[in-house]
Parts: sequence; C-alpha cells; structure tokens
Amino acid sequence: MPSLEDLGWTARVAEAFEPHRLKGLSPARVSLEHTHIYRVLSPEGERLARVAGRLRHDAAGRADFPAVGDWVAVETPPSGDARIRAVLPRATQFARRAAGNPTEPQVVAANVDVVFLVSGLDGDFNPRRIERYLVTAWDSGAAPVIVLNKADLVEDVEAFVRDVESVGQGVPVEIVSAKRPDSMDRLRAHLGRGRTAALLGSSGVGKSSIANTLIGEEILRTRDVRPSDSRGRHTSTSRQMVLLPSGGILIDTPGMRELQLWDTGEAVAGAFADIDALADECRFRDCRHASEPGCAVAAAVASGGLPAHRLESFRKLQAEQKHQAAQQDERARIDIKRAGKIGAKALRARLKEKG
Ligand code: GDP
Ligand code: ZN
Repeated sequence: MPSLEDLGWTARVAEAFEPHRLKGLSPARVSLEHTHIYRVLSPEGERLARVAGRLRHDAAGRADFPAVGDWVAVETPPSGDARIRAVLPRATQFARRAAGNPTEPQVVAANVDVVFLVSGLDGDFNPRRIERYLVTAWDSGAAPVIVLNKADLVEDVEAFVRDVESVGQGVPVEIVSAKRPDSMDRLRAHLGRGRTAALLGSSGVGKSSIANTLIGEEILRTRDVRPSDSRGRHTSTSRQMVLLPSGGILIDTPGMRELQLWDTGEAVAGAFADIDALADECRFRDCRHASEPGCAVAAAVASGGLPAHRLESFRKLQAEQKHQAAQQDERARIDIKRAGKIGAKALRARLKEKG
C-alpha cells in the first residue's frame, strides 16, 4: 500500500487537513471520477466513495465537487462506500468549460505538479499549438515540460527543438519516443516520489503510449469489449490516476483530453513574456501593437528582434480571449434577464393575490 507521501502528501496538505483529522476523518486522494461515484486512494487502499449530502448541498458550483487528483476528507464506515465530507484547497487545477454551460468551470485534474505538453514529431507538428498549451499550463499553476514524442520518426530533431525553443521561453524540452522505453527516463527525471504529472496534447500525439510506457503495462485507456454492453466496443478508463512504479503519480482523465483554452489574461502574459517586456516601452499603455505610433513591439518585429509569428500568435490568443469574455458577458446578461423575469413574475403574482 502507498504511504501518504507516495500519494503526494505535503506539509501544506497536512495543514489543510488538520481540522478534518480532529473530526475523525481520514485523508484520501481521488483516483477516479464516475458520474456520481468516485474512487479514492489512501494508505488503507482503494475504495468507492460518494459525496456526502452536506458537501453536495453546500457546493456553489461544479468546481466545488471532487475532481481526480483532489485531496479529500473521508468518513469510512466499516462496510459500504466511503463518504467524501470535504475537498481540500487545490494547489493547482486544470479547468474547462462544462458541457452545456460555457461559463461554469469544471475541474478536470487537481494538484498536478508537472504537466507534459506532448507533441508528435510527425505530420502535424505545430509550435503555435504548443504555445497555446503553454498558456493552459501556466493557467493551471502546474510546471510545464514540452515533450516532443515520436523522435524515432525523424532524422533532424534539432530543427524541431530550435522551433520549439523560440516559443518555449526557457521551459524544458524533452525529446522522447514511446517506442523506446529508455527515453522515458527523460520524463521520469521530472517526477519522483509524490510528484504528480499529467499529459496534455492533441489526439494522436502519443499520450496513451507514453502513459503505458511509463506505467510499464497497459492500464490506462485500454480498449475492451463488454459482452453485456449493447453499445459494444468502447474505450474504458480503468484508471485515471496511477502510481508509477518508478515513483510519482500520473493523471490522465477524459476531461484533460478535452481541455479548451480557459480565459485568463495573466496566463497570456506568462506565455508571451517577450512581448510583455517590449510592451513596457510602447508609447501608449493600452497599445494593442496593431498600428499605434511608438509601438515597441511593432518596432521589434520590423528590426527582426521579435519573430513576426510571435505577435501573430499573441493577437490570435487575444482575439480568442475577447470572444470568450464576450460569451461570458452574454451569459451573465441572460442570467440577469432571467432573474429579472422571475422577479417580475413574482411581483405580478403578488399583485394578483392582493388584487
Ligand atoms: P494519444 O491519442 O495522444 O493517446 O496517442 P496514442 O498513444 O494513442 O498514439 C497514437 C498513435 O501514435 C498510435 O498508433 C501509436 O502507436 C503511435 N505512437 C505513439 N508514440 C509513438 C512514438 O514514439 N513513435 C512512433 N513511431 N509512433 C508512436
Ligand atoms: Zn505596442
């Protein structure tokens, strides 16, 4: 059985857990999320757990519910499912817009220390996309590592590395091949006991292959056929958080795979530190680096000091954020309207009563 430290327990978590310990609850980490039931991992083993009624009642939104990677305070009856009474504060979190509700964040992985941003060195290698994943990583609070996979398929790896380093801003770049198990040591170097990692990247870049190679067996996302299931063949997720034999923890949830860019201005600045630094020299504080006079960013592009594609990426991302912000405003407007309508309805009803 793993110790709490193997599971990522830290002094910070211990401190947050203290009041729950005094209530006789035990610490555990969420390793799997189904619709209404969870699997939690602790030094006592793995067991099913449900959210306690009180926690469900007090939750202000989806983000208050447990997510894979969360530390939780559980009550464990001698038999039956454990009860999750509290979710401890998250050190980091990956969130996405919940399906059907574009403005409500849903946490898809919590307490990730290091995130491997995986790209494949085959067909659709795209530094712009890496840039966007970097933004998502910074937004989460996890430390990014750029992973270039499928190195076995290319001759000149260095050319790719140069491309990536120009967008990577000093983020470590690791070149691996899931087909060469020894290359996984490059990733293991970022792990170690109690460190939690997650994989982020487009479909087909080799995330499952890397996960399986790190784990040493096919645990994550193995396809199976359930004879009793009329829908037939489907992808089953037997594990979403696993302890690695070489130390460390790997999280791979379906939600992580569907991550979309979530709006934060700060994250953009983090990924575009070069543009940010130049912008300090722009004549106007609110310079959009479009065609304003005295724009230091445009000047840097003109003199070759800043690659033009950097500014282009920056603009695209800004446009996307603007779009998201507008969507959120729209949503808020609808909510206010709806609340107003309900108010008016109640008022009419009351007037009628009095009437
Ligand atoms: P995912 O969608 O990111 O999980 O990608 P998969 O792990 O399913 O891999 C997609 C395809 O790429 C599969 O056919 C893998 O066998 C192949 N693949 C993954 N990693 C490598 C690699 O390092 N080298 C080569 N040649 N193929 C790879
Ligand atoms: Zn400017």
